[in-house]
Amino acid sequence: MAVASGSGVRRVARVIVVSGPSGAGKGTLIANVRRRMPHLAVAVSATTRAIRDGEVDGREYHFLTPDEFARRVEAGEFVEHVEYAGNRYGTLRSELERILGGGDSVVLEIELRGAREVRSAMPGCLTVFVKPPSLDELERRLRARATESDAAISARLETSRIEMAAIDEFDAVVNNADVDVATDALYRIIDDATRG
Ligand code: 5GP
Repeated sequence: MAVASGSGVRRVARVIVVSGPSGAGKGTLIANVRRRMPHLAVAVSATTRAIRDGEVDGREYHFLTPDEFARRVEAGEFVEHVEYAGNRYGTLRSELERILGGGDSVVLEIELRGAREVRSAMPGCLTVFVKPPSLDELERRLRARATESDAAISARLETSRIEMAAIDEFDAVVNNADVDVATDALYRIIDDATRG
């Protein structure tokens, strides 16, 4: 539902889709915003990619084998699912139902094709694009993070070019040049949408 506000049309939404290239800083910004909004939940996706150092199964992702992921696709357990840089990722219907059923708003941190799927399945959602200052800076961040091989980084950068071209499809854009400024911007967008 959209309601009028001083700055044009304001969307009231309980499902917030945060998208944008890998390495743009979606996860960091969402974690920062959640410190200020304890009731904001993030849906834990499922993935077949390898667990990284510091990640915990069931916290960052439900880490599934390819067979288990495929079984859950067959069983209709995903709202959307994609293959991304050689691995599968998907939003679990059970996560959304649990969080929304409990009365909280939910953030989905997902890539572009998933964001499009969610937008057509739930037209009332709010979509936010987190933009890195530039593709050069994005490459620098992905290499500094050092969680992927060179080939995987190249695949992510190639996908990022496609994702950047879709920026106009989103309801709001957060430019992540400065993490504090970007956190404030994302906070205001989500607070505004979920205050209803
Ligand atoms: P990473 O491997 O860096 O954790 O995630 C790779 C990309 O997949 C990121 O852009 C992330 O936002 C996206 N992603 C994570 N979970 C999901 C999901 O459930 N669905 C979709 N479509 N993308 C996801």
